[in-house]
Amino acid sequence: MTPIITRFAPSPTGNLHIGSARTALINFILSKQNTSSKFYIRIEDTDKERSKKEFIDNILEGLNWLGINWDKEIQVQSQRIKRHQEIAYKLLENKCAYKCICSEDKLKQKRELIKKNKQLSKKICTDCKDNIKVQELSKDFVIRIKIPDEGEINIEDKIQGKIKIMNKELDEFIILRRDNTPTYMLSVVVDDNDLGVNYIIRGDDHLNNAFRQYYIYKYLNWFVPKYAHIPLIHGEDGSKLSKRHGAVNVLDFKKNGYLSEAIINNLILLGWSPGNENELINIDEIIKKFNINNLSKSSSIFSYKKLNFFNNHYLRNEKNISKFIQYCKINQKLNKFFNINEEKIKIIFQVYKKDLNNLSEILNFVDPYFNVNFKYDQNEKFSEEFNILINEFFKILLKIENWNRDNIQQNISNFLKAKNIKFPIIGKPLRFLLTNNYNGPSISDIFNILGKKDSIDRLNQYIEKV
Ligand code: GLU
Repeated sequence: MTPIITRFAPSPTGNLHIGSARTALINFILSKQNTSSKFYIRIEDTDKERSKKEFIDNILEGLNWLGINWDKEIQVQSQRIKRHQEIAYKLLENKCAYKCICSEDKLKQKRELIKKNKQLSKKICTDCKDNIKVQELSKDFVIRIKIPDEGEINIEDKIQGKIKIMNKELDEFIILRRDNTPTYMLSVVVDDNDLGVNYIIRGDDHLNNAFRQYYIYKYLNWFVPKYAHIPLIHGEDGSKLSKRHGAVNVLDFKKNGYLSEAIINNLILLGWSPGNENELINIDEIIKKFNINNLSKSSSIFSYKKLNFFNNHYLRNEKNISKFIQYCKINQKLNKFFNINEEKIKIIFQVYKKDLNNLSEILNFVDPYFNVNFKYDQNEKFSEEFNILINEFFKILLKIENWNRDNIQQNISNFLKAKNIKFPIIGKPLRFLLTNNYNGPSISDIFNILGKKDSIDRLNQYIEKV
């Protein structure tokens, strides 16, 4: 198997979108299937206005968090402008490009004409190429690539299949602007070539660009990489996945308490399946089994519900208590509770984890357990039977020396048996007195979370009154 040299080339004009993370993931996986393969990162920051350092940081932190590691140094597009200019002039010298001085007005008119008459060639400048005076200018021109009007080009895309396009459909796009800055179309090819990239995997919104970029490779006699243009992911309503559907910034998932393995599992199943019933799959298994040839050509739906299912599965895993501890460190409120009583917050997590979609949901439950001024709601009234039983049960509780869940549970069972009563008679009111809520985990779990002293104090508030 030939080593794959691949890359992820984000423009730092926004945070790392979950859809882009999927593109990065697929590149990463392919590079891990062969020890000589490489996966590079290039920051495409030539749009000075919109590119921001905070977005670069966000993108790299998001990738790191997901475990998508890259090789060698990061290539930064803006640092390579000289090289892009050098290539633009080389193309000009080789007569594969030409100088153009068409005014914006003239180009606009031509564009409108092309729009009206779909049969026309897309070449918007027809005068400059053969105008010797223009070609001899030393400034105030743009450089356009030359593309023949006749013939067609074929690209074999791993996902989209064979695609043919007529040359007259392609515009002679600008490779160097009037201010001497290179365009994306040129920079991307030069940078990929210099990195040795032989496989480009990116969103299918770039499919049209592949045909344009093909000419740059061809004119320079450079190796044309293989392509896989992957379909974008959509929300459940079928539209492009965006904030309207929920979180899309990878680091927001982290902030909300999603585990990276759940995100990876969910992302890789979009348009691909490991081929067995069990959809739970970790990154090592994915690397073993993933085959890009089986990736669906149609767009996939990102389901937050399914992500919750995976996340719940992974956060219940005993090994992942460390992930909860890490999460406490990045969540201000949990961190406060963690520092007050680490053991207590860990027990709360163990008790509630089966019901959590994400770690932040634990915040819905912690408060009553850490409330040092806890008062039960005195408007609530309980049966006479309970009032008698609670006194007896309270004495039993006081005697428990080894305060743990199993022991407490045993004492409750013995008490119910001895009194020949059903659990709800004492269970429901007890839960209320301890947490101000009739619903929640088992009483023994609640006693265990609170510890003996707090449990006794809370029940005492009631007993003293009956
Ligand atoms: N910088 C482009 C983007 O963020 C990707 C270019 C490419 O992958 O060729 O959409």
